[in-house]
Amino acid sequence: MLVFQRNADLQAWVAQEKKDGKKIGFAPTMGALHEGHLDLVRAAAVRGDQAVVSIFVNPTQFNDPKDLEKYPRTPGRDLHLLLHAPCAAGYMPPVEEVYPPGQDLSLTIDFGALDKTMEGAFRPGHFAGMATVVNRLLDVVKPDRLYMGQKDYQQLSIVRDMIRQLDLPVALVMVPTRREPDGLAMSSRNVRLTPDMRAAAPAIYRTLLDARKRFAEMPAAKVQEWAFSELRRAGLLPEYFELVDGVSLLPVHTFSDSHFVVACTAVKAGEIRLIDNEVMKNDF
Ligand code: AMP
Repeated sequence: MLVFQRNADLQAWVAQEKKDGKKIGFAPTMGALHEGHLDLVRAAAVRGDQAVVSIFVNPTQFNDPKDLEKYPRTPGRDLHLLLHAPCAAGYMPPVEEVYPPGQDLSLTIDFGALDKTMEGAFRPGHFAGMATVVNRLLDVVKPDRLYMGQKDYQQLSIVRDMIRQLDLPVALVMVPTRREPDGLAMSSRNVRLTPDMRAAAPAIYRTLLDARKRFAEMPAAKVQEWAFSELRRAGLLPEYFELVDGVSLLPVHTFSDSHFVVACTAVKAGEIRLIDNEVMKNDF
């Protein structure tokens, strides 16, 4: 596996790979890798892509400086995991490679409702920072395919819209959420959960699965109310639990409102904020 820190070195390698007829599959990450991230690499390998994984803790997408400071960083372990994934190239750029001093790369796209609700409402500025860095990394890496996790469903929806609006020459591949055996979605933040909160956290996925059963029988508002009380009963603090159209991310009210419904939730588990989602209905 090759490891690059400079854009020019990575780009020279990518150009050669493409010349040799290879496709590039890219998975942007913030490191502290786990099996969920490695699934992105495996999804690329299955399609015969040369997998490139970036590890870059993007300062512009953290609205809380404490969260940025405490974000787990495990570069040595990450490289070891990538080596065995197997990944073709790791890309660990310093900040000035991603954001060259004096250049304003910030992206100002109108995402309509996509970036206003849910995470957008609770983490102001987060999606502007995320879209900017993904656009920048795509411009550097120039992959054929971009691999992202369903775990961050709203993020993925926004990136899909960005690709459409900017007409970027890349195909987006959604990789299903990898979970712990008890259902908790894998996340780099899970290592920061206290033992009590780690024990409480599987209630998130349980609630999502139960919500799916209830949604067939009751209005979304009732499901939402039930889910809030269920999450609280488990000792978690729900921020939102929304049933939305899986494309527009607009709220649905009843089962027949949309063919494709996703429930998205964010909870505080003590100090740690966790997100998850599950498809409630897919009639496509
Ligand atoms: P992050 O490092 O958390 O920014 O995530 C980098 C990429 O990995 C994003 O596309 C995430 O959606 C994806 N990802 C994170 N956790 C999981 C998971 N448990 N299962 C699948 N993909 C994931």
